Amino acid sequence: MVKKDEVQKPKRKQFSLDVSDLENFVYDMSRCVKCKGCKWVDHIFIEGINYSIRCPSSLWKPYDAYGAFGKMRIGIALYEKRLEWTEKLLEILYACTLCGACDVGCKRNLDLEIGLALESLRIKAVREGAAPLPAHREVISNVLKTHNRFGLKNEGRENLQASLRFKKDRSILYFVGCLSSFHEFHIPEALCKVLMESGWGFEFLDEEWCCGNVIYSLGMIEEAKKIAERNVELIRSKKANVLLVSCAECYRMWKVDYPKILGLSTDELGFRVTHFIELAFDLLKEGYFRPRRKIERKVAYHDSCSVSRLCDPWVKWSGTRGWMGITDPPIKRRRGIFGLYLQARTILSSIPGLKLVELPRTRENALCCGAGRGTKEAFPEFSDFVVKERIKEVKDSGAEMLVSSCPWCKIHFRGALSDGGIDVLDISEVLALSL
Ligand code: SF4
Ligand code: SF4
Repeated sequence: MVKKDEVQKPKRKQFSLDVSDLENFVYDMSRCVKCKGCKWVDHIFIEGINYSIRCPSSLWKPYDAYGAFGKMRIGIALYEKRLEWTEKLLEILYACTLCGACDVGCKRNLDLEIGLALESLRIKAVREGAAPLPAHREVISNVLKTHNRFGLKNEGRENLQASLRFKKDRSILYFVGCLSSFHEFHIPEALCKVLMESGWGFEFLDEEWCCGNVIYSLGMIEEAKKIAERNVELIRSKKANVLLVSCAECYRMWKVDYPKILGLSTDELGFRVTHFIELAFDLLKEGYFRPRRKIERKVAYHDSCSVSRLCDPWVKWSGTRGWMGITDPPIKRRRGIFGLYLQARTILSSIPGLKLVELPRTRENALCCGAGRGTKEAFPEFSDFVVKERIKEVKDSGAEMLVSSCPWCKIHFRGALSDGGIDVLDISEVLALSL
């Protein structure tokens, strides 16, 4: 009889979380059981028939194909070459804000990597020549040629930097981001005011380039990798301990997507990525500043996806899958629990007179504003539909002011709320007003 230790076990196939290889996510795509936990708000938090869906795509078009469950089936069919790229198929994949609501929803029941599968499918679309879409050409060319989203002279960033009053401290580098460098000046102005009041300082980067969020989001992994390598190397060369950002998209890109693209874990970057609300929360807690001025308004806080469910640190993984998909070593799952939910609410609640109201879809269950990841450029009707859905919720809450921690959410809401009635501000601006 053959003894157990005489038999050489066949080697198990190695997998990783590398999004550039769709094979890593075949297990996840094929194990979707169509329970639709990715579409609905967590059941215990559903307040009624209204505002019970958290997937923007499913809300826009109530066909299975638009939900993550449909996209997973399409993904498998593409992987097995049973489907070809068509205009409709690309709409299904790209009229999706990669907001992560499906991913954290799915992980309530099953540990499937839905978000990574969606990103990987876009990379496949680009590699096979089906994407990026014609509507994305302009923004791609702007980022790659001028290093900012708007196709403006990149040296223009210095105008803002020269106009601000701030204390210099080389241990913190402030990465302003494209939108605040060229248009949303009130955000860096407010950030400077809060840090000045606290006695804290920072330095600007003299050669800031776009973080490349849109390039990565569209599936252009090779180009995104070049940007990530350049940007990470630049920060390392400055030997700063902290990279400060005030844009949610930049935050996710630096903290999660750069390490993901570069094969690192977040803690191997060599510097800490901090959003303004994390720093302001710490400074408030430690008594560096105190909001004094009353703001007697009802305020709703919108959890921008990239400072909430999408910002858990990235932990690289490679290993095998065994019975029932059990991974060896275990994967440290990203479930959105390290989002900056508490920080934002603590900051707002510290302002005298301000009454914070919770929206029905909140924290991990928040509905995305509908602006990001290339959707506004290619599917403006989808983007408009989603922001209007979110605004209905804000109006129903009785809020007089809508606050977020992302300039992209802010301009998207402001555009849709141009009839007045509800003010739209970034959290840094509200805080600066209270000083
Ligand atoms: S929650 Fe997960 S398993 Fe359930 S339908 Fe959605 S993707 Fe499929
Ligand atoms: S990423 Fe967001 S929009 Fe896309 S399928 Fe998932 S929940 Fe829907």
